Amino acid sequence: MGKPAATGGRLFSEAAMIPAAHASRQPAPADPPSPPAPLQPGGWQQALRQAVREPAELLQLLGLESVALQVSSQAAAQFPLRVPRGFIARMRHGDAHDPLLRQVLPLDAELRVLPGFGLDAVGDAAARSATGVIQKYDGRALLVATGSCAIHCRYCFRRHFPYGEETAARDHWAQAIARIGADDTIDEVILSGGDPLSLSTPKLAELTDALATVPHLKRLRIHSRLPVVLPERVDAALLQWLSALPWPVTVVVHANHANEFDARVDAALAALRGAGALLLNQAVLLRGVNDSVQALADLSTRGLAAGVLPYYLHQLDRVQGVAHFEVDDATALALHAQLAARLSGYLVPRLVREIPGDTGKRAL
Ligand code: SF4
Repeated sequence: MGKPAATGGRLFSEAAMIPAAHASRQPAPADPPSPPAPLQPGGWQQALRQAVREPAELLQLLGLESVALQVSSQAAAQFPLRVPRGFIARMRHGDAHDPLLRQVLPLDAELRVLPGFGLDAVGDAAARSATGVIQKYDGRALLVATGSCAIHCRYCFRRHFPYGEETAARDHWAQAIARIGADDTIDEVILSGGDPLSLSTPKLAELTDALATVPHLKRLRIHSRLPVVLPERVDAALLQWLSALPWPVTVVVHANHANEFDARVDAALAALRGAGALLLNQAVLLRGVNDSVQALADLSTRGLAAGVLPYYLHQLDRVQGVAHFEVDDATALALHAQLAARLSGYLVPRLVREIPGDTGKRAL
């Protein structure tokens, strides 16, 4: 069952959300904060194994088995359904238009091949500098740490990415570390994927131990949907690892709708902040999910209540199979202007699009 925008979470000021490790570059406290109590034995890996993978089961759990929804087994065969049960619990029972359901349900519309929608909409292949390393912008290197995710988002811009060959973990990070170490203009590494937090904590530690040998690194960023879709991932071992990292750490989570937050997500995000991470959110503007001023305002204010500042609102990347989510630019700009008129400036994400070959995200 989805939660209304105003539930849970106490309000935080902007200054209070900047952790000490960011403000002063002092090491985080030795004792990491307590993680939220696990929901079930076996922790996050068990919760991940129990994710729903069959559209029929998802619809049955939501009381939608008899609703005509144009669900596509062919789309699910191309990009399998995967959704954690805790995320399903935030969907509205009996609502075929639920904004969380729309993000994960494989539909016939994904099978349409349309001009302008390709396999690599953001130019990842051209920006590859080593196995699993993508360099598009000065000073930063993005590391494709894994191809695994806890949830499969139908609009994903990397749904056609060749993870089999292009994952930095393949050779125990050797090529990636060599590349980053050889370029002293790189001062920030972004762990991405897939979802980097779907790696085990020992595997993450193996990676960050290797990165710590690179003297010119100053910052670490982690792009992850797990704290929102599988908050059990924020366990004691993860917090211990995060607290001990030698750099200021920014965790960019990914929520597209206020209903993705609940008390357990709030607790996971609070624990991440307590471990020294600065929390930002990036969302994608999605037709049928968050394409209204009210939905976007609720997302920003609900995120703030959980200690997360809005960062980017992305225009959809035009990969094959996602066209039914697209919001045209004129509508996107109008929504953004109305959002800016309604909310404090720090609650308004930057509306951007990624253009292959650009030196940064382009504001609309
Ligand atoms: S979690 Fe991120 S990488 Fe994984 S499917 Fe969703 S959008 Fe794509």
